[in-house]
Amino acid sequence: MHFEIPRTLYTEEHEIFRESIAKFLRDEVLPHYASWEDAGRTPPEIWLRAGEFGILGTSIPEQYGGMGGDFLYDAVVIEELGRYSVAAPAWDLHGYIIAPFLIQYGTEKQKTSWLPYMASGEHIAAIGLTEPGGGSDLKDLKTSAKLDGDGYVINGAKTFISNGHIANRILLATKTDPSLGKKGISLFWLDLNADGVSRGRNLRKIGNKAQDTAELFFDNVRVSTECRLGAENDGWRILMNGLVRERLVVAIRSIVIAEAAIDQTISYTKDRKTFGQTVFDFQNTKFKLAEMVADLEALRPFVDHCIELHLSGNVTPELAAKAKLTITELADRVLDECLQLHGGYGYMWDVPIARNWADARVHRIYAGTNEVMKHIISRSL
Ligand SMILES: Cc1cc2nc3c(=O)[nH]c(=O)nc-3n(C[C@H](O)[C@H](O)[C@H](O)COP(=O)(O)OP(=O)(O)OC[C@H]3O[C@@H](n4cnc5c(N)ncnc54)[C@H](O)[C@@H]3O)c2cc1C
Repeated sequence: MHFEIPRTLYTEEHEIFRESIAKFLRDEVLPHYASWEDAGRTPPEIWLRAGEFGILGTSIPEQYGGMGGDFLYDAVVIEELGRYSVAAPAWDLHGYIIAPFLIQYGTEKQKTSWLPYMASGEHIAAIGLTEPGGGSDLKDLKTSAKLDGDGYVINGAKTFISNGHIANRILLATKTDPSLGKKGISLFWLDLNADGVSRGRNLRKIGNKAQDTAELFFDNVRVSTECRLGAENDGWRILMNGLVRERLVVAIRSIVIAEAAIDQTISYTKDRKTFGQTVFDFQNTKFKLAEMVADLEALRPFVDHCIELHLSGNVTPELAAKAKLTITELADRVLDECLQLHGGYGYMWDVPIARNWADARVHRIYAGTNEVMKHIISRSL
C-alpha cells in the first residue's frame, strides 16, 4: 500500500534485512507451505534453517546466540510474515513473544542454558496459559505446581496451545498457591518430553492450518526449582508485562495483512472484467477500497508510534489493548470486504485473500479476546 505519510521507523539496515527475510520466505517457505498445511504442522528442519538465518533470535542478545538487534528487527520479520501470508511456523510467538520472557526474567544461568537453543531452533517453544475450562479469566487457571523436595510436581491441562505438538519446551503458567488467586501464579520452563506430559489431538481449525494446536496434559510432572522463571508467585506480574508485547505483535501482523489485502484486491479487481468493465471500475469497488485505504492510512502512524514506544519500554497495557482492539477489528473488516470483491475466487483456499481472511480471524480471539481488551481500556476511564 502506498502511504501519504512516509514510514520513518526503519533504517536502511532494517530494509536490507527485510529484503533478505522476504527472499528467505519466497525461496524456502512458500514452496512448501501447502504441504505443511496438509500435514497440520511445520517440520523441524525449517526451524533449524530459520535459526541459521537468524530469524529466531533477532533480538536475543549475541552472548546467548542471537543477533542482538532491537525490537525493530522483530517487527521487520513480523511484517514480512504477514505480507507473505505465512501464518506458520509461529516464529513470532517463539522468538518475539516467548524468548523475551526468558531474556527479561531469566537468571544468567537460565539464559545461558536456554536461549541459545531458542535462537538455533533446536528448541521449539510454546506458551501454556489457556485451559479447557477457560482462557479469558487467566487468574482462575487451575494447573497446579506443588513444592516437593527440591522441585515441584505439576498437574493439570492446557488447550489451544500453538506449537503444542512440535514444541519441546513450554512456558507454563501454574498455581503455586491457589488461595492467593492471581498472586499465586508461577511460571515454569518445562521440557515437553518429560515423564507425565502427554499431548492430545492436533486441533482442527478454520485457519492457520500449517500451525499445530494442541491439548496438553500434565500428570505428576516433576520439574526442578531451577526451571521456575521468576520468583514463586510472581507469574502474574511477568505475564501481564509479556502480554503487552504479545498484543503489539498481533497488531503489527494484522495491519500488514490488511495492507497486503488491499494491494491484492486492487490488482485483482483491475484485472477482472464483468458487465463490460473491470470490477475496479464499479463505484462500489472504488468507494469500498477508498474507505479501507483511508482507515489503514490513519492507523499506520499509530501502530508505528506504538512500535517506537515499545523500544523505550513505554507501551502501557491500555495502549497495547487499544492497538490490538482497533487494528484487529479493522483488519478483519478489510479482509472480509476484500474477499467479497474477489467474488467466488475469494472463497478458494489457494487465493491469498481466502487464507488471510481465515488466518487472521483468530487475531480477535487470542492474546486476550477483544472483549477483554475493552475491559482493560475501560478500567482506565
Ligand atoms: C488458534 C489459536 C491459538 C491459540 N494459541 C494459544 C497458545 O499458544 N497459548 C495459550 O495459552 N492460548 C492459546 N490460545 C487460546 C486463546 O488465548 C483463548 O482462546 C482466548 O484467550 C479466549 O479464551 P477462551 O477460548 O477460553 O474463551 P472464553 O474465555 O470462554 O470466552 C468466550 C467468549 O466470552 C467472552 N468473554 C469472556 N470474558 C468476558 C468478559 N469479562 N466480558 C465480556 N466478554 C467476555 C470472550 O471475549 C469470548 O467472546 C489460542 C487460541 C486459538 C484459537
